[in-house]
Amino acid sequence: MTLTEKILARACGKKRVQAGENVWVKADVLMTHDVCGPGTIGVFKREFGNDAKVWDRGKVVIIPDHYIFTSDSKSNRNVDILREFVKEQGITYFYDVIDDPDGHWVFDSGKGMLKRQYGSHYAGVCHTALPAKGHTRPGEILFGTDSHTCMAGAFNLFATGIGNTDAGFVLGTGKLLIKVPETMHFRLEGRLQPGVMAKDIILHCIGEIGFDGATYRAMQFDGPGVASLSLDDRMTVANMAIEAGGKNAIFPFDARTAEYVDARTALNGTTQAYEPVEPDRKQKFVYELAVNLDALEPTVACHPNPGQRKKAKELGNIKLDRAYIGSCTGGKTSDFVEFARVLRGKRVAIDTFGVPATPEIVRDLQTTYWGNQTIWNILLGAGVQMTENAGCAACLGGPVDTFGRMNSPMTCISATNRNFPGRMGHKESQVFLASPATVAASAIAGKITDPREHLAN
Ligand code: SF4
Repeated sequence: MTLTEKILARACGKKRVQAGENVWVKADVLMTHDVCGPGTIGVFKREFGNDAKVWDRGKVVIIPDHYIFTSDSKSNRNVDILREFVKEQGITYFYDVIDDPDGHWVFDSGKGMLKRQYGSHYAGVCHTALPAKGHTRPGEILFGTDSHTCMAGAFNLFATGIGNTDAGFVLGTGKLLIKVPETMHFRLEGRLQPGVMAKDIILHCIGEIGFDGATYRAMQFDGPGVASLSLDDRMTVANMAIEAGGKNAIFPFDARTAEYVDARTALNGTTQAYEPVEPDRKQKFVYELAVNLDALEPTVACHPNPGQRKKAKELGNIKLDRAYIGSCTGGKTSDFVEFARVLRGKRVAIDTFGVPATPEIVRDLQTTYWGNQTIWNILLGAGVQMTENAGCAACLGGPVDTFGRMNSPMTCISATNRNFPGRMGHKESQVFLASPATVAASAIAGKITDPREHLAN
């Protein structure tokens, strides 16, 4: 069996499963956020009754992160709905925006967009927060009401996005009927070269198969090249499986996975026991692609979808109005480090927005010194507009006052994961997806640029 099949077999209590089979699996974690949480709660109450209790209050994780730093009152209200539900149900893991469990969330636009406006429990973007807070354990089943839930597959678990109706059902029963997906095999060989990042791996793979090339399939990434990839790198790759239509992404378990997971579960007091799955000798794949990491070049997904692959060096004719770094895919500490490496001592030529995915990442950037300057200050010095209000921000557009949102037609290069028309705001805007290094080099030049031009200097 493939890694995905092995996890699903265990979760449904069978020795073996095969692609195409429908099985009832037990959920280990259900995650929801401020956009889908209220709808999910509504389904749960409608189907199970107003007084119903969730199946396991220690397995529900609620992370407001999407429409948080906005004056839109309906968005603010969504966070309050989550808080009320958490109180009613006694849910253990709620990463509230404010510290007062009886309070109300109101964003104060008078304080501006840049200075933090959250309390001590706030965790930032759900997919980045889940592993950081110790909720991604190898071998488990994680459902989330968000399509990029597949990112947790970096940790050798079955993680997939589900809709509000399914999530309401999971809240009530802890189970879900899943069709076992076929598995596509991406064998990584070699090592990424300077200026080339994990984002380039996944943009390359999606370019090979198209933005619907993995529809309802598992994308398994393994091979000798995985060892050199950090967990941040693996998260970037797994995150974008859904951009090819994938049901889930999955990586093998290794010492780096153990180190990350053990440290985070211990730090946060979450469950520490887990049982990873190892690859079988015989696995049935419906597709095979070998990816030579040594040969990969900085890659861009052009407007209007993530499958429009080109090399960055071929796109120097694309003039830009804006650059953006942030999101679960591209807003991690390691993403900002590579971004800053290119920008250090230079200045951006276009409006450039930086949104760290979590408050921890803000802290990392504000406390890590290169010489006598923090990375945060290096980025400010280069002209990047950095906000401490970690969250989804303009990755999915959001209300009109969202930081970095494109409110008029413009051309943007972005370290985020999705570029369908309208995704980051105005529907006539064009978004080009690239690695943080490519975004930085392009921000300096005001046109799409291969970052290796800057590393050579
Ligand atoms: S950062 Fe973007 S892709 Fe990630 S969860 Fe938020 S909206 Fe979705």
